[in-house]
Amino acid sequence: MHGYGGVEQLFFEDADEPKLSEPDEIIVKLRAASINHIDIWNRMGATGINVAMPHTLGADGAGLVVEVGAQSGNVKVGDAVCLYPPTGCGRCEFCLTDQDFMCVYLRVLGERMEGTYAEYVKLPAQNCFPIPQDYSFEEAAAFPLVFITLWRMLITNAALKPGESLLIIGVGGGVASASLQLARKIGARVIVTSGSDEKLDRARKLGADHGINHFKQDFVKIVSELTENRGVDVVLDCVGGEVWRKSLASLTRGGRLVTCGATAGGQPNDDINAIVSKQLKIYGSTLGSRDEFRQLISFMNAAKIKPIIDSVFPLKDAAGAQRYVEEAKQFGKVVLRIPN
Ligand SMILES: [Zn+2]
Repeated sequence: MHGYGGVEQLFFEDADEPKLSEPDEIIVKLRAASINHIDIWNRMGATGINVAMPHTLGADGAGLVVEVGAQSGNVKVGDAVCLYPPTGCGRCEFCLTDQDFMCVYLRVLGERMEGTYAEYVKLPAQNCFPIPQDYSFEEAAAFPLVFITLWRMLITNAALKPGESLLIIGVGGGVASASLQLARKIGARVIVTSGSDEKLDRARKLGADHGINHFKQDFVKIVSELTENRGVDVVLDCVGGEVWRKSLASLTRGGRLVTCGATAGGQPNDDINAIVSKQLKIYGSTLGSRDEFRQLISFMNAAKIKPIIDSVFPLKDAAGAQRYVEEAKQFGKVVLRIPN
């Protein structure tokens, strides 16, 4: 990336290979990366973070360890690894309690660190984890950021339980479609919304109990009917904007709303009366801890879940892949294949 702006700022070109500078670092030869909305926000300069140009985007990746520093005991050359994206200062109250992702000096791959749209990436050894069983490199690059985010939202924060109901707003994106998979596996009832009948069909095939086209129908009314005027236990709303109030209105008393962003606008009209009178809980989160990532990989292995991959683009067409995600055409993840 040569500057902030549209996809025209992305170039496929030679860059210097990363060199180890700290004893706990390693270098991974990447075989796949995946596209996240955060990459697009970083490209647009919407995160408020200034990086030196040219800069390499990409928070998600998987590949083979090719070089290790002297203090990187958890991995060795030749290991196939997937990458945990954030790292912190290592000294603050959050880092000392395995909450690096809350560190004031947070650094994330592709954000304050050089990212994964590349053949090689340098990162701390402790950010490398074994690839889940029977995963391809594409699958191993497709799950970390999305699944760690939703694991923290749904399992840690919302504490979604078997038999509870979950409403997922806008089921096409990576986090929403992965949430459907996870919620079904733990035995929750899942209602999804989308503006696309095709995406609703795909969601039903993946186990969604009900699909609501939010352009054609009032989802608050339908949710109320489907739950006998009770409302759902949990709403996952990463859309925000006009939808936010409706998400709150769809919750039962004591319900929980979880969000990891707002693709339709971050300053919705809130309904504080509804939050108070219905005793609602709202959880914002981004990323998750290394321990949550470890729990997640165990769960992926035990439940035999694999991320849904919509499409694979070659690394040289990262711009085309980002454009495709910006147009919200995908169902599941968009992956970059990196030449061997
Ligand atoms: Zn810290």
